[in-house]
Amino acid sequence: MTLFKFLFRKSDLECPRCLGKTFVDWDDIRRLNKLLKWVPAPCAYCFGSGRVTPEMILKVPVDYTYLTIDLPESEMEKIKEQNPETLERGRLREVFLDDLIKYAENHYLYDKMDAQSIADLYLSTEDEAALFSLERQNLIRFIEKVIEMKRSEIN
Ligand SMILES: [Zn+2]
Repeated sequence: MTLFKFLFRKSDLECPRCLGKTFVDWDDIRRLNKLLKWVPAPCAYCFGSGRVTPEMILKVPVDYTYLTIDLPESEMEKIKEQNPETLERGRLREVFLDDLIKYAENHYLYDKMDAQSIADLYLSTEDEAALFSLERQNLIRFIEKVIEMKRSEIN
């Protein structure tokens, strides 16, 4: 390790997303209110190092949904660079998920539909040019999670 890197690292802070564990677990996911949006995985915020620069914390919100480890590294870099197109993609991804959650909740609560029927209805009306979509099986699993959460809220 060069001296420069050593000095640089000393100024780094504990990663506020994974709390320095290098891994985002269910506790972190609950704490950051991402239950339907993330699954446990190596931390993309500190890139599995447990430490981040103060600059990172200023630039990228810790709970920025779009920044997950399954993104290509180039896309992660663009988030850190605040690339406008990338940030717009991130915003649209969040809108997509929020709309899907509302869609599933409404059909579950008011139409008493199950996950499979909601998924099929969604896919039958989905815009072919949609920027984001989920395969049927993943969509059903996602909607099942939404319903599960709604159920636990009601009880
Ligand atoms: Zn982290």
